[in-house]
Amino acid sequence: MLKMLCLLAALLLFCPLAKAEGRVPAIIVQSDGARRSDAAPLDPRIQPAVALSFDDGPSGDYTQPVLDILAENDCRATFFMVGAAMDQSRELVKAVYDSGNEVGLHTWRHNDLNQMDANAIVRNLELCQNIVLEQTGTTAKWLRPPYGRVGPTAYSACNALGMYIATWTIDSRDWETQNAEKIYNEVIGQLRNGAIILFHDTHAATVEALKSILPEIKARGYQVLTVDQLMSFRESLRSATHYYHLDMEKLKPLQ
Ligand SMILES: [Zn+2]
Repeated sequence: MLKMLCLLAALLLFCPLAKAEGRVPAIIVQSDGARRSDAAPLDPRIQPAVALSFDDGPSGDYTQPVLDILAENDCRATFFMVGAAMDQSRELVKAVYDSGNEVGLHTWRHNDLNQMDANAIVRNLELCQNIVLEQTGTTAKWLRPPYGRVGPTAYSACNALGMYIATWTIDSRDWETQNAEKIYNEVIGQLRNGAIILFHDTHAATVEALKSILPEIKARGYQVLTVDQLMSFRESLRSATHYYHLDMEKLKPLQ
């Protein structure tokens, strides 16, 4: 208990680091060298929006190709990274952040949060945050629980860390099918306003599928955002729950 209180006091002292507000640079330089403005996202009641998310990276083979396709299509995403993989590819943590995308956490070793006590979860996520802080100067705000398994212990750990938990609305099943056409059909068939879409930046088929999925989502008039950008339209956020979509009944009043 005392240990937990000390940890909380340390976190409060470190408070500015917990405020990893969605930071997006004003100008993005695309992989082809073209520059474009980066306007703030519109309220999803004015223009529909989805959030993209990529779990289990960073991957030396696939994360940069995913970043390139996102930039080419003027899309954003959140990368829920595994700590041990970040440790191996620290430069990719920086590349994700510097390209206007969001770094989220996915535990140090893809751990099942329901098998851990709150102290262990906090220690695990702090190890991840150390790398994010070193590479980006800020900390991650969102956690994606491995296997989608989450409960009261994870909620209290996230509360101590000032983090929020995101699961997903649409599972691309990319890890299962490893087939670009099936991934495309899974995502486009379920597309709807406020959805959080789950991919993994660890498969060649995912990269291939994105080449057709992103232009199609844009052609249907959607904004493609980070999880934090999408969820910022909610009236309020709490650590003691998890979010699988943007609930259109719980948005801030229109400005
Ligand atoms: Zn995972």
